[in-house]
Amino acid sequence: MLPFIKKRTKIYEGKAKVLYESGQPGLIIQHFKDDATAFNRKKHAIIEGKGVLNNFISELIMDKLSGIGVPTHFVRRLNMREQLIRRTEIIPLEVVVRNIAAGSLCSRLGLEEGLVLSRPIVEFYYKNDELGDPLVTDEHILALDWAAPHEMNSIVNNALRINDFLTGLFSGIQLILVDFKLEFGRVEDEYGETQVILADEISPDSMRLRDSRSGEILDKDRFRKDMGGVKEAYQEVARRLGVLPKDILNGIIPPDGETEN
Ligand code: UDP
Repeated sequence: MLPFIKKRTKIYEGKAKVLYESGQPGLIIQHFKDDATAFNRKKHAIIEGKGVLNNFISELIMDKLSGIGVPTHFVRRLNMREQLIRRTEIIPLEVVVRNIAAGSLCSRLGLEEGLVLSRPIVEFYYKNDELGDPLVTDEHILALDWAAPHEMNSIVNNALRINDFLTGLFSGIQLILVDFKLEFGRVEDEYGETQVILADEISPDSMRLRDSRSGEILDKDRFRKDMGGVKEAYQEVARRLGVLPKDILNGIIPPDGETEN
């Protein structure tokens, strides 16, 4: 049994997650909700069990990334919907890595969905809902002091390493990684030096995944495009990764409410 960790004060509630105090210094609790939003919150739905699936999928990916030396905020999973993470000072950027043209890249540049890029693209978006997360360049980021030059180097290097690793991981389970979004945060070590680490989550909410044989969409695009079968797609990703929780298979999904320990 994991030690009992009592949930404390809510720190922040976002679209798909809630952060709580953990009562332990430097550590907080990340709770995964079933809420799905798209188009800057204009579209919203509850997808029963999504939070549980994302919790398990993100745990596995963060664990594997730690294993290849990518520093992450993930400490351990606490229960079906929650994980203990390091508290970071979030860098206000969404870092998107693309292998194949899709979504906003296609609408912005008039490209056809599915165009295989000759090399991965790393893009930065300023995290600001009111402004609709606008695309920015590293010039904006450096001039506005959102991140320092050495932090940008670390972000780009890690984003590309994560892309290489995840592309291989998914290709082994017949999934094509089209694109994904990362967030990074700062932590301070015992000498007062700051380090940039991977934060947030990595799940089908923040990636585009296609079945490599059928081309079937197995990510949040099913929700964006009103295709139905969102939960089943996330379950399929979890199943192929070997992390589909037994309770989900048995139809017992813990409610999206208070901490379950
Ligand atoms: N993405 C995300 N959160 C966002 C915006 C994008 O997780 O707020 C992910 C999205 O799921 C996709 C990638 O980042 O895997 C690129 O998204 P894109 O810029 O094409 O935007 P979208 O099509 O979501 O408008």
